[in-house]
Amino acid sequence: MGAKVLIVEDEEALSDLLSYNLEKEGFEVAVCSDGQDALVMVDEEHPDVVLLDWMLPHVSGIEICRQLRARVETREIPIVMLTARGEEEDRVRGLDLGADDYITKPFSMTELVARIKAILRRASPMVAGDVATFHDISLERDTCRVRRGIREVKLGPTEFKLLDVLMKRPGRVYSREQLLDQVWGQDVYVEARTVDVHVGRLRKALNKHGDKDPIRTVRAAGYALDETYAG
Ligand code: CA
Repeated sequence: MGAKVLIVEDEEALSDLLSYNLEKEGFEVAVCSDGQDALVMVDEEHPDVVLLDWMLPHVSGIEICRQLRARVETREIPIVMLTARGEEEDRVRGLDLGADDYITKPFSMTELVARIKAILRRASPMVAGDVATFHDISLERDTCRVRRGIREVKLGPTEFKLLDVLMKRPGRVYSREQLLDQVWGQDVYVEARTVDVHVGRLRKALNKHGDKDPIRTVRAAGYALDETYAG
């Protein structure tokens, strides 16, 4: 499954064109045409990257960018700003507010796709093919195998999925709700504290021999792979 791009763009023709081209490139695409819905869509869709138009109805792209960066759950999501304005001042402002890249309309699809791919490579350099690694931990998706150093770690299917989600973006803090959605699915009703139970099991399996805990608990926010962990 390809990375998911959330397109926030009110010009329908452009939004359609973007969807078409990104899907053709193997991306999964979600579309939003209103600034007000964008934040809700980010929470629901968990995009790997957001393509964000500057001029939007109700809430501007800049404001959305600011709000995404202000929240712990969303501040690591790469953002590419799309804009008709080419002024240097706006560009600087967008990047100041935390946009990762900036593309001025009109742009070529080839260039846009190349920039998105570059950003995704930067955002998740640990994910290569079907093996994810984080220091001494490796996770093979096709065989469902996890190792810590040379030791094989036995995990249940839920713990495996949990670790897989956390390893996609080391350092990013996932809320219990986000983990529920991504591990159990959005249509399943599971209590938030179930996440704590499974994170506990995951830790126990990973740290069996007194190894350092690679998972960080963020008070009132959720869980993350600890960026300061060094294996
Ligand atoms: Ca617009």
